[in-house]
Amino acid sequence: MSHYLDDVPYSGIIRIRDLMYTVKDPFRLDQGDVSFDAPDTLKEALIRAVRENRTHYLQTTGIPRLQELLAEKMRRKNGIPIGAPAEVMGTNGGIHALYVTFPARLEPGDEVIVPEPEWPPALGNILAARGVPVSCPLREDLGWRWALEDVAAKVTPRTKAIYVNSPGNPTGGVFTRADLGGLASLAERHNLRVVSDESYEDIIFDGGEHVTIASLPGMYPRTIPVYTFSKTYAATGLRLGYVATSDHVLQDRMRKVLLYTTTNVSSIVQYGAVGALEGSQDCVTAFRRELQARRDLFYAGLGEASGGIFSGAPPRGAFYAFVTIDPGWRDPEATQTSQSWAMTEYLIRHARVGCIPGADFGPAGEGHMRFCFAREREELTGALESMRTVFGNA
Ligand code: PMP
Repeated sequence: MSHYLDDVPYSGIIRIRDLMYTVKDPFRLDQGDVSFDAPDTLKEALIRAVRENRTHYLQTTGIPRLQELLAEKMRRKNGIPIGAPAEVMGTNGGIHALYVTFPARLEPGDEVIVPEPEWPPALGNILAARGVPVSCPLREDLGWRWALEDVAAKVTPRTKAIYVNSPGNPTGGVFTRADLGGLASLAERHNLRVVSDESYEDIIFDGGEHVTIASLPGMYPRTIPVYTFSKTYAATGLRLGYVATSDHVLQDRMRKVLLYTTTNVSSIVQYGAVGALEGSQDCVTAFRRELQARRDLFYAGLGEASGGIFSGAPPRGAFYAFVTIDPGWRDPEATQTSQSWAMTEYLIRHARVGCIPGADFGPAGEGHMRFCFAREREELTGALESMRTVFGNA
């Protein structure tokens, strides 16, 4: 019999990263990383922490000042009625917040409803907790949102939670307040928890609002909101995320997973985060504005550069173009049966453009491609130029 971890897949994103290392002068539109630098407030605090010898063991869930600042941020900015700062736990990135959360909630075989297409590690983390991800399709015609009746139809006696990711990766779909209200009623009716992944809370375009389901009346006790410094502060490599719950049973279980996986999140990083939170938040607005300009630049050129092969509406949040491939497109030399994998290999090989096949985000993602537009404008223009050459010659 195979070990359960043998069935937890690697993400195809890793395979593509390896492929990209074989390409000279690549356009890295494959990885979900912003090209900005982290703000000085964060960097100065990191340096100060080193100088002040903050190199020793710390509290498992985070230093009190960080917990206090995060609790205050979630109350003020997200509208979540956090009680004591002890309800907040620092984690090694948003991905680790999910890793800590799922085993605290799930018994082997318990089901979690997840969107499809979805960032694969969300499902991987459920599987790693011996849970069962149950995919529920997002509807492209609704701007990649769920139709409530689709979610309701997925509830079974084994359902323990709903994983919400808004704005979503890879689709950029943003749930409305009304969507979240519907999900909240469903969760209440079936006594489900909601794991709400808000990694892209600050990346919402066209003046749209980010709403967390944890801020709806009575919902925080059943919601575990998950956040990260990775996107908001352009700090993917520092590895800091956080999660909150008012449920003491969950807190206790999550603290154990934290203890056994990290002892504590890097001391230097925690002090750096205090600097980022105490400082000006202007960088967040500036990042958002620039990302919207990059989105618009990329979409303005994509249809034409691809000779009409790629189409789709610009996303309302996150920083990915999740576009449809013309169903008639084929690479005669392809060894792949999957169209999106064939397109990925074609673009990497012929255009030096990194991208992710829609199929990597679940079967419903087939026929689509994901391009990250959080790269420098020159890199985006270069990628478009390169596509124009390749598709023009095809
Ligand atoms: N959730 C989603 C939906 C993501 O796309 C990502 C990063 N790609 C994360 C969580 C986690 O990011 P990190 O671990 O860097 O905080």
